Amino acid sequence: MNQAPAPAAAAPRPWTRRHLLSLEGVCAAEMQRVFAEAERCLPLVMAPGRKFDDLAGHCVANIFFEDSTRTRNSFTRAAQLLSADVIQVSGEGSSTSKGETEIDTARNIEAMGVDALVVRHSSAGVPRNIADHVRCGVVNAGDGRHEHPTQGLLDIFTLQRHFGPDLAGRRIAIVGDIINSRVVRSNIFGLRTLGAQVIVAGPPALAPASLGALGVEVSHDLDAVLPLVDVVMMLRVQFERLAGQSIASTHEYRDGYALTERRTRLLPEHAVVMHPGPINRGLELDSEVADGPRSVILRQVTHGVAIRMAVLKLIIAG
Ligand code: ASP
Repeated sequence: MNQAPAPAAAAPRPWTRRHLLSLEGVCAAEMQRVFAEAERCLPLVMAPGRKFDDLAGHCVANIFFEDSTRTRNSFTRAAQLLSADVIQVSGEGSSTSKGETEIDTARNIEAMGVDALVVRHSSAGVPRNIADHVRCGVVNAGDGRHEHPTQGLLDIFTLQRHFGPDLAGRRIAIVGDIINSRVVRSNIFGLRTLGAQVIVAGPPALAPASLGALGVEVSHDLDAVLPLVDVVMMLRVQFERLAGQSIASTHEYRDGYALTERRTRLLPEHAVVMHPGPINRGLELDSEVADGPRSVILRQVTHGVAIRMAVLKLIIAG
């Protein structure tokens, strides 16, 4: 198994980034800064009724050129809990449908007096490109197959809260449509920086051996991997990115890679099940498992709001 870089029991350090575009290159101390801030925010998410005023008078714009349920609403909730105002822009229903470029859209929204843009796009690199053309902070809310840094942070935060802050040596299997996933890339960068070991598993067309270049083990035998891991993170088969063309049939995919009730019995007793959502129930993950005792899926969602509060606060207010 590939060894991750030296673990970092790093203390939080001051935040100096103007944007959060990826977890590649984000060090352990920076992640711990986000987690420390998220810990402060989490009680507000878990017991609603209060707000912080950290971002009172500030404005966040969610610019989503691609569909979203969790991420968009999680950023909205996060901004609201920090007393910021929120503007919502969608690809459909905005002037991009009239031919306006994404950069023009972003610059026009910024010109309305916005402090941070949260950007999702189906093409990799669009948030970076926008960041190069605006003065305010930009947060990548998922770009094509590239990265989804706040999802990576919320997944790692969930693991730290479950297993304790030191994830060094923990083994995480990420299973399914690896090649199309931005979630997997952010998780690999973040988890390896913290000393965890990542195994990706899926059919060869969706989990090619070349992924080993990211410092992970690649397996096509899920049943052999499950007894070895502390965590199994299931990924959605991304039909909109043509993953269907890479699998012989959904029946065969289920046979090899679905996390069924039977397969969960291969996991160590302490292992937990994650999924970033949305779930294809009955394809990659069975309902008994998604809603079962090992699942931390809804906890991921709750933690996501706290992580996004932390990221917005750090990007806008430092
Ligand atoms: N919600 C995640 C993303 O936006 C995962 C998925 O769509 O399957 O990448």
